[in-house]
Amino acid sequence: MNERRPPSFTRQFSVPQLRNSVSLLIDLPSAAHINFAYYQARFSTEFPLQNEINIREGKKLISVATIEGGVRAHFEDGTFADGSILIGADGSNSNVRKYLLPDDYGLNTLPVSLIGVIRHFSPEQLAPVRALDPLLFQGLHPKTGNFLWYSIHDWFEEPDGQRSFDVQVIISWIVRNSVSDSIPKTHEERIKLMKERAKDYAEPLRSLVMDIPDDLTSTTALKLADYPPRKWNNRNGRVTLAGDSAHTMTMYRGEGANHGILDAALLVDQLKMIHRGEIDQKVAIDTYEAEMLPRTLDAVLKSREAAMVAHNWEALTKESPVVSARLPPSTA
Ligand SMILES: Cc1cc2nc3c(=O)[nH]c(=O)nc-3n(C[C@H](O)[C@H](O)[C@H](O)COP(=O)(O)OP(=O)(O)OC[C@H]3O[C@@H](n4cnc5c(N)ncnc54)[C@H](O)[C@@H]3O)c2cc1C
Repeated sequence: MNERRPPSFTRQFSVPQLRNSVSLLIDLPSAAHINFAYYQARFSTEFPLQNEINIREGKKLISVATIEGGVRAHFEDGTFADGSILIGADGSNSNVRKYLLPDDYGLNTLPVSLIGVIRHFSPEQLAPVRALDPLLFQGLHPKTGNFLWYSIHDWFEEPDGQRSFDVQVIISWIVRNSVSDSIPKTHEERIKLMKERAKDYAEPLRSLVMDIPDDLTSTTALKLADYPPRKWNNRNGRVTLAGDSAHTMTMYRGEGANHGILDAALLVDQLKMIHRGEIDQKVAIDTYEAEMLPRTLDAVLKSREAAMVAHNWEALTKESPVVSARLPPSTA
């Protein structure tokens, strides 16, 4: 394999029923833009960054303090950086959120667990699955409630001109029993559990899981959690949050990165106005937060509901939050 390229994008988002066949329950265009944005974000990291931006890699922020006229970020290696504003975009376990909301920064845990792998598939292995959808889909077994996520992660040009693929395969389930529904510790045990949970799937989706090599050396396990955003004291507009640090949400509506991107765009609008001297920094950051907090609270709560409904066949309808329309906010 050699050349890496972004995957092509499907216009459809389908939810197969995994029990007897893979006939489509729901087939909507509504989520196409959501996942498009997710992949765009991932691939954008491969482009060279602008030279004039002073980016320091490998710095772990451990604490924040306001200083005369600005803010200071302290890093694990003993260094610090001063600035007029600190925007915490440090993900779901944000240290900046911990600083802003010391008594209220913890994630809200949900009774959903998942195990995911990325594994390679030959063109022949993946052909029947790609015939269902060239890029991604999610599915649910109506009896067992075991949820499947499938998406192309990468593709490779083979010497014979065919494409092979790295594929993301995720199984998730509702945790009803803390022992029997727990996540095993080793990769081997996790893959075994994925196969156990997929054993009643219809083909070709059953093989998608069963063909995962037993000796794969990497799995990702998650106990799902979210963070409904809430108002914080932004220290006169000197410290704020964007992306998952402000509003961690489950992935069952595919919205987290989209909201992060919109946060960034709207925040940049405010920063430009501050830079041009058109607006006071406090007013600008208050304005950004006044739009972002209600928009993303709604998204976090809908995504939470989607995480539960995604494991319940009876509740999974065209109106349910797993598949219902993601209308762009008026600010998008
Ligand atoms: C399986 C899955 C599928 C998803 N699918 C979609 C989808 O289809 N569409 C969609 O819109 N969203 C999707 N999401 C959600 C999306 O991935 C997240 O919302 C998005 O990545 C959040 O971006 P972020 O930059 O805010 O946080 P992150 O991507 O978590 O980035 C935070 C960064 O901060 C760094 N960091 C953390 N702590 C520190 C520290 N103390 N000091 C310095 N740096 C630190 C981390 O290393 C990381 O680089 C999915 C998520 C998952 C798990």
